[in-house]
Amino acid sequence: SAQQPVDVHELLDATLVMLQAKIPSGVRVVKEFDRTLPPVPAYGAELNQVWTNLIDNALGAMDGSGTLTITTWREGERLFIEVRDTGPGIPADVRPRIFEPFFTTKPVGEGTGLGLDISYRIVVNKHHGDIRVDSQPGDTRFRVCLPITPPSD
Ligand code: ADP
Ligand code: MG
Repeated sequence: SAQQPVDVHELLDATLVMLQAKIPSGVRVVKEFDRTLPPVPAYGAELNQVWTNLIDNALGAMDGSGTLTITTWREGERLFIEVRDTGPGIPADVRPRIFEPFFTTKPVGEGTGLGLDISYRIVVNKHHGDIRVDSQPGDTRFRVCLPITPPSD
């Protein structure tokens, strides 16, 4: 499939609808969307996989209660999408390994350890973007950045 101009908010909305049944009643979902942001050329289905992985991790970390906040904004020619949770955070010794394939801290059968590896490859390799994490107890943020006009490939 080819890249098409997509509104990331439509993708995020669709992902949240898809995950609705998995969102516990104790988790508040806050959308801080700047819907005036321009569309970006992207592989929509693959970006949906990224949002799904990040939101799934956030929900898993919060264990039934907390706040999931999704924020979008623009800085120059880059668009940012941040998924934030109020879970316990990522321990310092775990942090350097989370993007490795098959790395998981979840019990056998609950995590494949592939979510962040796949997400990294979709964002960085396929969209020339970036994905970064900033985590403290009670405040973990995964921040995806996408170029508004990516180099052609
Ligand atoms: P999986 O979810 O199958 O374990 P991922 O690649 O999605 O694999 O995540 C790897 C690991 O990163 C997780 O097992 C967890 O230790 C850590 N992690 C990811 N997201 C979060 C988060 N929001 N809060 C705390 N830890 C996280
Ligand atoms: Mg995961």
